[in-house]
Amino acid sequence: MTDLAVLAVGFGVLPVAAVLLTMFRGWIGSHPEATWGGLAGVLAFLGLSHAMALVLEDKPFLFGGTNELATAAFLVTGLGLGGVVAWFLFEGPVVRTEPSKIAWVAVAFLALHSFGDGLLLGKDFVGVALIPAVRIDSVTISATVVHRFLEGSIVMVPALAAAWKPRSSALVLLVCLVSIPAAYVPGWLAASLGLVAGTGATMALSSFLAAAEGTFVLLMIVRGFLPIAGADRGTRWIAWTAIGFIGISLVHFLVE
Ligand SMILES: [Zn+2]
Repeated sequence: MTDLAVLAVGFGVLPVAAVLLTMFRGWIGSHPEATWGGLAGVLAFLGLSHAMALVLEDKPFLFGGTNELATAAFLVTGLGLGGVVAWFLFEGPVVRTEPSKIAWVAVAFLALHSFGDGLLLGKDFVGVALIPAVRIDSVTISATVVHRFLEGSIVMVPALAAAWKPRSSALVLLVCLVSIPAAYVPGWLAASLGLVAGTGATMALSSFLAAAEGTFVLLMIVRGFLPIAGADRGTRWIAWTAIGFIGISLVHFLVE
């Protein structure tokens, strides 16, 4: 039997490894088209393709599948909330200096996305406690490592640009640990509401967060990453954005 605790902790801490990118600070700083462009492609997959696929897939089952209008209103609220929070972080008075601003937005993304990832991980353990539907082999593990490392990089690249100290970067990267408690939420909901209602509640929660992530990431890409990727390096950033998108898609093909 696979232990949820072992998986959740292993999965949770992986993004912190991205602090190692500090060793390549020089290269990262001089190749914005590859780093910011590539990560824009990664973000497009994670936040738009992956998150929105989850929203569309779960939509027919929300609220017992009986209330189309309530479902639409619920998901639009999620989409709107993601946009408002991203706008506030970018244009509001909280963080004033530019590269730091993007780094903080990325930290918020990492927290939101990690929570969603944790929910998905925990969902596989509900109702099938003895034989979880989680496939564990070297391909899945390496793909998961790459996936979580790239999520950490989404914070580290702006953090390096903002000249954050490695220690501060490592500290903020710890927000990725919210995936650990999140992995226990589906089991807890099923235990307290019953299997059917609990699974429904988990689905509603993860679709709402995925909808919020969709708009949040859209603004991150257009306001945060692409302007830097394309600032002064010709057109190579376009290719890098495509490479980032295809690369992270491939990683997910190997896991899912
Ligand atoms: Zn993820």
